[in-house]
Amino acid sequence: MKNTAKRALQFTAAAALSAGMLGASAASAQSIPYTQDTGYDPANAGQLAKPAPFQALGKKGSGQDVLGPADPKYKMNVYYDSAKHIVTGHLEVAFQNNLKQDLKELYFNLWGNADTHTGNGASMDVSKLKVNGKKAVFNVDKTALHIPSVSLKKNKPATVSMDFKVTIPNQQDRFGWYKGTTSLGNWFPILSVYDKEGWNVDPYFPYGESFYSLTGDFDVTLTTDKEQVIAATGTEIGKPQKAGNLAIHRYKAQDVRDFALEMDPGYKVKKGTVNNVKINVYYTDEQAVYADSMLKAGLRSIDLFSGHFGTYPWPELDIVGMEGWFGGMEYPQLTMISIAGKRSQGWVQSVTAHEIGHQWFYGIIGDNEYDEPWLDESFATFAAALHDNTLDRLTADPNPNTAFHLSSPISTFTSYGDEGVGAYYQMIYGYGSRTLNDLRLKLGDDVFYSAMKAYFKEKKFGITTTRDFMEIMKKESGRDLGEFFREHRVFVSDQE
Ligand SMILES: [Zn+2]
Repeated sequence: MKNTAKRALQFTAAAALSAGMLGASAASAQSIPYTQDTGYDPANAGQLAKPAPFQALGKKGSGQDVLGPADPKYKMNVYYDSAKHIVTGHLEVAFQNNLKQDLKELYFNLWGNADTHTGNGASMDVSKLKVNGKKAVFNVDKTALHIPSVSLKKNKPATVSMDFKVTIPNQQDRFGWYKGTTSLGNWFPILSVYDKEGWNVDPYFPYGESFYSLTGDFDVTLTTDKEQVIAATGTEIGKPQKAGNLAIHRYKAQDVRDFALEMDPGYKVKKGTVNNVKINVYYTDEQAVYADSMLKAGLRSIDLFSGHFGTYPWPELDIVGMEGWFGGMEYPQLTMISIAGKRSQGWVQSVTAHEIGHQWFYGIIGDNEYDEPWLDESFATFAAALHDNTLDRLTADPNPNTAFHLSSPISTFTSYGDEGVGAYYQMIYGYGSRTLNDLRLKLGDDVFYSAMKAYFKEKKFGITTTRDFMEIMKKESGRDLGEFFREHRVFVSDQE
């Protein structure tokens, strides 16, 4: 069962902030400023407590020195039984131990085992796990798979292989099936990231994302019933092979940090091209009325964001309709747009733009979404407002509780229960996007967007941190932005 807080949020905040993972359009976030949901009334918020002193930027943190395992190459061969909603298959991931030390343990994330999913029937099991061809002991604690005794030499390649079985829950979610649609987001065992904090196996966060992975390559063979119309990260190689009632599809993707699929036998496809990027919009008959809006927002977003932030680097993008209340969800080269009930065309376009904004802020410029969620959500919300021509409406006030910083980790928000969930939306979507717009206004468009392009260039396919963003903005603008960041509650100290 989903927890009541989430359910309450879906009803109360849906109109304002498209509860769940995504994101609110700038217009809707602006028009209902958090008052009903959190009890926060800006007029009575009183004086903000003085923020902690700004921590001067010193030498670059050591975080970037330790980040791996690098260059994961995933090969998967899976079968999806669309009648039973079960995925079975084999996974192999090769990587380099770039961590400057021998590795004695490894972790994977099994997001399908999060409580919110298992409550609706999900399960994720691993068997026959081998490291460098040898059987290895492992244990699973909810979303963390731990391989405790390995010996991986530094600077050497390694391979982990395993069989896995995933029961897809019946729910309107990024991971679930509902009516004829199957949404496979965060559905396979994915290598955890080792950084200066050690292994990152943070818990699943149902109101946003807590994912963290490095870019690599995928080669995925999927067998399922031949009626399925499938959207996927990457590009399909050749035509599917038919075998009785089944079809075998093969996909390859490069420089992506995850691999998602979404399918429905009833999907129709609408195509467009912009700047040599193919856009495919997948929609059911019920969603057909929104197909043009998804395509229009897709074409405009790719063009606009490439021009303002840096060129979209992949050959393809899928925009996929699904029934749900959470708004949308981003995966590399695939965005889920969750449409239930009646939505305005403007809402669909804005959510589509937000999710495509994540192709830049999450997909290309990656971040630890648990530790610094603002680095993707605030930026995607800003991108949607750029698309919507509503930057001037980014005026959300900060949460009056000064325990919440823009650079607060999700654990800070969740430690406050429902108040924290409200604060998460208010700060990370609302106030964060306003902060970026305030920075744009302070620097002027030319300097701001050229600094964003420098940020893109330096962080492309890598991982960013709040410190990195602050340093690059400061350097590119030639201005001391310490006071600006302090006033906007952007602190390096939350992560370091
Ligand atoms: Zn988002």
